[in-house]
Amino acid sequence: MRIVVAGTGYVGLVTGVCFAQQGFSVTCVDVSQEKIDLLNSGKSPIYEPGMDELLAQNAPRLTFTTDAAGAYRTADVIFIGVGTPERPDGSANLDYVFDVVEQIAQSVEKDCVVVVKSTVPIGTNDRVEEYLRQNLAHPVQVDVASNPEFLAQGTAIHDTLYASRIVIGTQSQRPRRVLEQLYAPFDAPKLFTDRRSAEMIKYASNDFLALKISYINEIANLCETVGANVDDVAAGMGFDQRIGSRFLHAGIGYGGSCFPKDTKALDSFASIHGYPLKTVAATIAVNEGQKLRLLEKARAHYPSLKGLTVAVLGLTFKPGTDDLREAPSLVNVPRLLEEGARVQAWDPIGAENFRRRVQGDIAYCETPEQALEAADLCLILTEWPQIKQLAPQVFQQKMNQPIVLDGRNCFAIEALRASGARLRYESIGRPAVDTRREDQ
Ligand code: NAD
Repeated sequence: MRIVVAGTGYVGLVTGVCFAQQGFSVTCVDVSQEKIDLLNSGKSPIYEPGMDELLAQNAPRLTFTTDAAGAYRTADVIFIGVGTPERPDGSANLDYVFDVVEQIAQSVEKDCVVVVKSTVPIGTNDRVEEYLRQNLAHPVQVDVASNPEFLAQGTAIHDTLYASRIVIGTQSQRPRRVLEQLYAPFDAPKLFTDRRSAEMIKYASNDFLALKISYINEIANLCETVGANVDDVAAGMGFDQRIGSRFLHAGIGYGGSCFPKDTKALDSFASIHGYPLKTVAATIAVNEGQKLRLLEKARAHYPSLKGLTVAVLGLTFKPGTDDLREAPSLVNVPRLLEEGARVQAWDPIGAENFRRRVQGDIAYCETPEQALEAADLCLILTEWPQIKQLAPQVFQQKMNQPIVLDGRNCFAIEALRASGARLRYESIGRPAVDTRREDQ
């Protein structure tokens, strides 16, 4: 079976490489010549653990090209894995998906199955099929299937090879049989359903996870007010298997390429259909506020940030990725700069991308210790292991004022107290620690 994947981003490239790993020949198409050149030189345009090894191992089965028409012409299955970013009104922008669909309509010369992997609003697969039916340049049969993707960046290859589930939405037997065959080597639960339900499963899953995060973040904020510790609260909740312990880690809000846009897209889609989802709207509102939580805390120490040196540890939206999309750093660092602070930033892999996106008085540091040098304030925005492993004394030794505001709860309160380091440490939903004067 000849597989073609449109898009070599996190979803498209991982899909292509994982099918190659299962023994299929795969052609990956992208509009970006730069990405295709990189891939043809054996390098990955995205950071994803294990990707370089799989690219090398499967090189004989992988082709990378910008020649979309040539690739689609004789494909048996075409996966669409291009972006569906947020429009200004929150709805999903389907332009990239339909660019691919248009090219498919013009190019395919044999029967094939078009599989929509991109996250798309309910009913999009029907629109794709309708477009193809009306615009195919050659008399061939093209079926459309929905196969939403559930991988998480940073564990994308593992999530694909050992998927939690494979959801396949079809309206007829032929595409179902093709996808059954294609996914046969993958040992994962498979759910066969109709296309609209498959599309809905993706949004309902992502928005539920985002809801869980916003819920624990609100509980964390209340914990701070009433003197409870959200770590213990989350641990106590997590024992209940109906709740589960994952995604109960309080912090400064979710980011990334999926939760923010998928909550907004479903919110917008539901409202257009006359059934606004109150839980999803609340999830979004809580997250927007949460991203600024550390700056609110900073005010208690510094009414003005003008002239201060602020260490920012972590820029990416989570560890294990160089992706900055919707990262809290993109809200916090510009605010710091606007208020006249000087930023000393550290991130192990996100700094280059950040430099391209945000201009201003930012010194990019090689190590977290360097970023802390003479700082008046430290904001922790990503829970990189290198940050979690810092000895608490480092804050005291390096900083001008050892005031640490941790948006990811990287340090155990008791360990900080026991370390003997003198610092002011505030996190999300947990008691503040102030050892600066304790032994004076
Ligand atoms: P991405 O932005 O990383 O990659 C998209 C790629 O598509 C880019 O390389 C772009 O150049 C390419 N492209 C654009 N137009 C094209 C065209 N006409 N032909 C070929 N290539 C084209 O996006 P992503 O993060 O991989 O997300 C893709 C889709 O998968 C989105 O709908 C997203 O919501 C969904 N998704 C993403 C994740 C994730 O963790 N990133 C997880 C599950 C689902």
